[in-house]
Amino acid sequence: MPITIPPWPRQTPEIARAVTDCIESADWGRYESETKNALIVAIQSFFEATYVRLCCSGTAAIEISLRAAGVTNGDEVIVSAFDYPGNFRCIELLGAKPVLVDVSSENFGPDIDSVAAAASGRVRAVIASHLYGHACDIASLRDLCDENGWVLIEDACQAPGMRVNEKPAGSFGHLATLSFGGSKPLSSGNGGAILTSDDRIAARIAGMLDRPSDAFPLSALQASVLAPQLSELRKQNEQRNRIARQIHQQLNQMDSPLVCLAETRDGIEPAYYKLALRADSQAIRNQVVATAAEHHLPIGHGFRSMARSSERRCRKPVPLDRAEALANQICVLDHRALLIDESDVFELCQILGTP
Ligand SMILES: *Cc1c(COP(=O)(O)O)cnc(C)c1O
Repeated sequence: MPITIPPWPRQTPEIARAVTDCIESADWGRYESETKNALIVAIQSFFEATYVRLCCSGTAAIEISLRAAGVTNGDEVIVSAFDYPGNFRCIELLGAKPVLVDVSSENFGPDIDSVAAAASGRVRAVIASHLYGHACDIASLRDLCDENGWVLIEDACQAPGMRVNEKPAGSFGHLATLSFGGSKPLSSGNGGAILTSDDRIAARIAGMLDRPSDAFPLSALQASVLAPQLSELRKQNEQRNRIARQIHQQLNQMDSPLVCLAETRDGIEPAYYKLALRADSQAIRNQVVATAAEHHLPIGHGFRSMARSSERRCRKPVPLDRAEALANQICVLDHRALLIDESDVFELCQILGTP
């Protein structure tokens, strides 16, 4: 029996009703939108942020955050060599220089010692992403940034609803970003948000975006589909977390060249956009992906490493070996596959674990 992967995006009566309400109230056709305002209030409460700015994508949220951090020509921004490639591009596009650091040995975020070693008089900001359901060392990174006068941009695009020691991911950075892109657990096709609890940063963002109409907007119709998904997010995350834990246990009991890297540390409630699996070698990883694709499982490679980027484009003060190894050995299972029935977990692990 093939494994049933639930369709994505989810089509629920609540989403359909929210769109209809937005249309029938004519809210879809106004600058001043009640739907958007209601979504902002819901995000403020869920993510414990005093200021929420909706925008057109997670990528735009990163760029606006960098600008709000004051990053400009000639500045440096520390970023992991294993991260969403668009983050590197955003830094470059502002005329600043990415400073690459290695990935942590405990999670998929920047290694804290590498970040400390990358200090220079030109560094203005640090981007730290929570990737593949793992929390990065966000509280320590915040302390390090505060000590150095750097702005911490917490990229929570992959981890809406993750909690770290009872606090939501997105509440640790001076700024944080969310994505509502088409593949993300909260989706409006395109979209994003910037979160901050710093009044001065909030004022800078408003000054950049209100000209006076919103320069990088999320529409009322897009906002309408997000509110019902946010209401369901906690429940959906719990379901995905349960299946991820089962895959982790099942696969890691097998004699397999593939290891499941689920988040299992105390104090962390993960939120999976992708679940990472690590193979012994690049060849095995590629074989796993090919075999899983034949079974129509939503699986792909992890991020490429940026470690090979030229010295002209970035500064590389520390060895980037872990980033290189991860980029070659990781494959990632989409969150849709974490909404399968429990009775399919064994079969899924057989397919993944015996490529
Ligand atoms: C998806 C993603 C982004 C960008 O979001 P878009 O809405 O697709 O522009 C940024 N950072 C990370 C870590 C992401 O996964």
